[in-house]
Amino acid sequence: MEQDLKIYDYVIIGAGAAGLHLSLAMLTDEWFANKHILILDKDDKKVDDKTWSFWEKGAGKWDDIIEKSWSKGKFNTKTESIELDLAPYLYKTLPSINFYDFGRKKIAETEHIKWIKDAVKTVNNIGDKIEIRGERSTYFAKQVFDSRIDKGFESAREQHFTLQQHFKGWVIETEKPVFDPTTFVMMDFQVKWQDSACFTYVLPVSPTKALVEFTLFTEDLIAYDAYDDYLRRYIKEALKIEQYHISKVEFGIIPMSDYPFEKANLPHIMKIGTAGGHVKPSSGYAFKNIEKAAQKIIHNLKNNRAPEHGIINKKFRWYDSLYLDVLVNHNELGESIYTDMYRKNSIQQIFKFLDDETNLMEDLKIIWSFKFSPFLKALLYNLSGIRIK
Ligand SMILES: Cc1cc2nc3c(=O)[nH]c(=O)nc-3n(C[C@H](O)[C@H](O)[C@H](O)COP(=O)(O)OP(=O)(O)OC[C@H]3O[C@@H](n4cnc5c(N)ncnc54)[C@H](O)[C@@H]3O)c2cc1C
Repeated sequence: MEQDLKIYDYVIIGAGAAGLHLSLAMLTDEWFANKHILILDKDDKKVDDKTWSFWEKGAGKWDDIIEKSWSKGKFNTKTESIELDLAPYLYKTLPSINFYDFGRKKIAETEHIKWIKDAVKTVNNIGDKIEIRGERSTYFAKQVFDSRIDKGFESAREQHFTLQQHFKGWVIETEKPVFDPTTFVMMDFQVKWQDSACFTYVLPVSPTKALVEFTLFTEDLIAYDAYDDYLRRYIKEALKIEQYHISKVEFGIIPMSDYPFEKANLPHIMKIGTAGGHVKPSSGYAFKNIEKAAQKIIHNLKNNRAPEHGIINKKFRWYDSLYLDVLVNHNELGESIYTDMYRKNSIQQIFKFLDDETNLMEDLKIIWSFKFSPFLKALLYNLSGIRIK
């Protein structure tokens, strides 16, 4: 077994969304110019395994590598279609391979940061430094950022409100122009799996090409083929498309849980990304949250604070927990909760709320738009431990 005897200032485990956001934030900040940084990943990151979508106001950092952006969207049910005029926000989509390639290139161009392929097995505090044992070598660091999810999550998930956001998406291509590439579909409840919280999401990147994704927020997964049946039905019944071919398939599972992931942080070992609780529990959106967390980490390090300081917002985590309680116990309410939210609030306020940026008055207005009784029951349970049926 090799040993890399150098003591890195920072070792980042994982070159996914969180690892790359953090590395890129470090290498574009002069303060880190004399720091030695190592990024380790078990994988080459050469596969386009995710389509990251997010919203932000106007121009953004990743505009050169995104695939497309939209200023208009729709929210659909069987009986209504709500137009979403996003300005000043844009909804953007970024193929993960563009982000991996961009990150790899920037890292290769920068001397004080190195990327090594290795699978990390253990991370231990051994006194004055952290020892990271990989399959190929052992490394040492003053501070570690770790994207591996704490094993405690699997055993503790039953004690928390936990759903899985699971989805299968097809990129479909047609010969004739059938899509309106100016408008994406945020949520469409026309085709549903039983009475569960599920919807379809459509990102038309051109008149002949779109990602169509069937998504569920449920405790258990469904049979792998069942997603295909629902995608076929949606494409036929809602999009009215008969002739198409599938050029790409995406499958994913995102944990939606009020499990306190950040509890796995140890002195000089901070969990990041999904592992750090940086996925918004009630929506599964994470790309921008992870970027914001990286900026806070940078700020904390520069100000000699613990890197995790101020990243988790307790108020919004509490709302997320109430929401998860409602959906775990009343999964059938998914459609009506979202319909109320989109009917009664502007998309700008919804984005602001989902970004954890609203003030108490704005929160109350959003919360007021939901059906009262399941949320009241969740609140009572949260405060008293008594569950009203
Ligand atoms: C298919 C899919 C689509 C998604 N789409 C969106 C979206 O549209 N918008 C959005 O905001 N969020 C989305 N998410 C949620 C979230 O943005 C992603 O899950 C995001 O990738 C999480 O970042 P991460 O760094 O925590 O994990 P990852 O990006 O998965 O990165 C973890 C990295 O750690 C590496 N690793 C793991 N174990 C080890 C080990 N032992 N040693 C070394 N390396 C290791 C892995 O190889 C991987 O590269 C999506 C998630 C999935 C699964």
